Amino acid sequence: MTYQTTLDYAQQQDELDPLKHFRDQFHIPKQQNGKDEVYFVGNSLGLQPKLTSEYVNDELTKWQKLGVKGHFESEHPWMPYHEFLTEQSAKIVGGQNNEVVCMNTLTANLHFMMVSFFKPTKERFKIVIEDHAFPSDHYAVESQLRHHGLDPKDAMILLKPREGEELLNHDDIKALIDEQGDSIALLMLPGVQYYTGQVLDMKSITQWGHDKGIMVGFDLAHAAGNVPMQLHDWDVDFACWCNYKYINSGPGAVGGCFVHERHATNTKLNRFAGWWGHDKTTRFKMANEFSATPTAEGWQLSNPPILSLAAIRASLEVFRQAGGMEPLREKSLKLTGYMEYLLKAEMGDRIHVITPADPAQRGCQLSLSVRMDGKEGKDVFNALEAAGCTTDWREPNVIRCAPVPLYNSFVDVYDFVQTLKACFE
Ligand SMILES: *Cc1c(COP(=O)(O)O)cnc(C)c1O
Repeated sequence: MTYQTTLDYAQQQDELDPLKHFRDQFHIPKQQNGKDEVYFVGNSLGLQPKLTSEYVNDELTKWQKLGVKGHFESEHPWMPYHEFLTEQSAKIVGGQNNEVVCMNTLTANLHFMMVSFFKPTKERFKIVIEDHAFPSDHYAVESQLRHHGLDPKDAMILLKPREGEELLNHDDIKALIDEQGDSIALLMLPGVQYYTGQVLDMKSITQWGHDKGIMVGFDLAHAAGNVPMQLHDWDVDFACWCNYKYINSGPGAVGGCFVHERHATNTKLNRFAGWWGHDKTTRFKMANEFSATPTAEGWQLSNPPILSLAAIRASLEVFRQAGGMEPLREKSLKLTGYMEYLLKAEMGDRIHVITPADPAQRGCQLSLSVRMDGKEGKDVFNALEAAGCTTDWREPNVIRCAPVPLYNSFVDVYDFVQTLKACFE
């Protein structure tokens, strides 16, 4: 792709953008001067669709007017409400409808998945995660190991980038599986690494793991709604994600979970059970015997928080109207490519992008490492903030920026890079 450095060019690209109307469907936070913020933290908390308050208010009104009858009456009764989210969620991650459910939250779902898919034996008892995993994932894995009486020192393998490098090397992942595969029970890796923005080759990793009899699960916190995936075809065993990052469903939103059909239809699979996972046709018989729903829904525990599901339904409707992940990805490739180009053109080597340069190995996020020529990275971040550009700071010196194709524009990227340049001068 060829880009240009002028404001004219950015404005032109916004004009040509087939998704340009979607920005108007979101509430964009304002600066004190009344102008829109440059909001590049959709990877942390996605913005609120204007449709959300309508969908949430519908449920509040229903509760006012119908009380308990809201479970069965109206166009979207609460009883099957989670089902209204399934089709769009499944499209976002490339799963079948019987493989996807919105329930609980991300870390909770990782635990519930490990209950079913981490079954250590004397020979095969290790879990592989990355050394720089999101802390919650690290704690979840460590506590699962201890729960089984295993010492994380022996049973937790931490995958690291090579000395002096920032990114995970797929050759090293393959070599690790080849060398220690027989003792590994579970591989649990990110789809998109939260710090560097690197996309892992989920398809190959799953294949390598399965060749050695290993279960393979992914944390898709930074992948869902960001990069297209084909979890079913890739044969991934399970995956979990949150709906408040790229899926714009609000702080603490209910999470998403994928269980491959192979496992989801196996009602005998061990799990921590609750009544909402019970076969729908007999759930209200209130029998003591648990009979699992033969889909991913069989892992649900409780009747879900409808107000949160309503916000997810609104957000998924926006994804549907935008045409799903393909057109979003198409714009994302251009937008992030443009940002990389402008940073290089305007900032030269004062900024080092640690995210892979290969567009196939990244989503929309670029992680900028600030060169310390008299400037502390944190000072630059604070100056950006004061100038109306919201980004995300991660110790020791990374500014994460995510131009999100649904609501960010080429002019956002232009303004951001001009502001960044001014912060240095
Ligand atoms: C955002 C994020 C989480 C957060 O977990 P919650 O349980 O939703 O609070 C966990 N893991 C990763 C990789 C994340 O990016």
